[in-house]
Amino acid sequence: METMRLGKTNLLVTRTAFGALPVQRRNMVDAVAILRRAYDGGIRFFDTARAYSDSEEKLGRAFDSGMRKNIVIATKTGAQNAAAFWDHLHTSLKLLGTEWVDIYQFHNPAFVPVPGGEDGLYEAALQAKRQGKIHHISITNHRLGVARQAVESDLYDTLQFPFSLLSGEPELALLDLCRAHDVGFIAMKALSGGLITDATATFAFIRQYDNVVPIWGIQHMRELEEFLALAENPPAMDEAMRAAISADRAALAGDFCRGCGYCLPCPAGIEIFTAARIYFLATRAPYQQFITPDFQKQMAKVDQCVRCGACKTRCPYGLDTPELLQRQYALYKDFVAQHTGEAV
Ligand code: SF4
Ligand code: SF4
Repeated sequence: METMRLGKTNLLVTRTAFGALPVQRRNMVDAVAILRRAYDGGIRFFDTARAYSDSEEKLGRAFDSGMRKNIVIATKTGAQNAAAFWDHLHTSLKLLGTEWVDIYQFHNPAFVPVPGGEDGLYEAALQAKRQGKIHHISITNHRLGVARQAVESDLYDTLQFPFSLLSGEPELALLDLCRAHDVGFIAMKALSGGLITDATATFAFIRQYDNVVPIWGIQHMRELEEFLALAENPPAMDEAMRAAISADRAALAGDFCRGCGYCLPCPAGIEIFTAARIYFLATRAPYQQFITPDFQKQMAKVDQCVRCGACKTRCPYGLDTPELLQRQYALYKDFVAQHTGEAV
């Protein structure tokens, strides 16, 4: 499988990488089978996080020590202070069944941890690196400003940031900045949380950028096989793909929810990461699952929104989330009425 140098880490990673957030939704046996198939298919770069429930444990069970030395593991800590940092790191090492983490990332912090910071996070990371428990200090973010600051600081070996065919000038400028600072760019949400359904066009689009490694979130064996096949025979951009990309950009132009879930919890119990994009989901994927009575009941919680604004302050994309919920729910109700013949 094609490999590339990941910025100043000097690691050679497979250009097709495995995002292990979705395997937390599979049972242990199925998750281990998918991870081992990924390894057998040639994938050697796996990304997980302390926050992804049992994802780290599933990686730990999938890869024995012989396989471990052949792969690059990236995980993340959401620690806000040094004590939590050590707690997270030791838990991750234990669950992953490894003595080291190749790429240890601060998980979407609202600020850039720096040496001498009151939080003590960067010093803790340096100490962990000296001890050989982590090999590279890295960061993930959803905020362009924080991401730029982290790259410009030259304190981080890699940046993980959303990048998809919907990305525009700001993201492309961030790629250039990473290149200038030799920071490895790991692309998350390449399918924009399920809104982009054309994996082939997305794969070809991202492959145009030689300093970007996408981590594909994989939950099912069929998804894995699709990416392995694409890696085997990488598609080149063609006119049909350009047309599909233009259509996606037009359909999703403006403010849309990426489904990241950072806005939760909601006091009204609204599953915001689904409800704020429910019309897009229902119209861009097999819709039957989205119009069942139970599902409609879940979505009806949007009517319970008390407009507290908590979600809005937490959204890294600056979305007016309560407003978006109302808009998407209104469109969704019309959609359900059209398909069921019954008013919602
Ligand atoms: S504004 Fe509405 S949707 Fe947002 S957190 Fe408050 S109750 Fe939930
Ligand atoms: S509203 Fe914002 S924070 Fe919430 S899921 Fe959507 S993009 Fe993420």
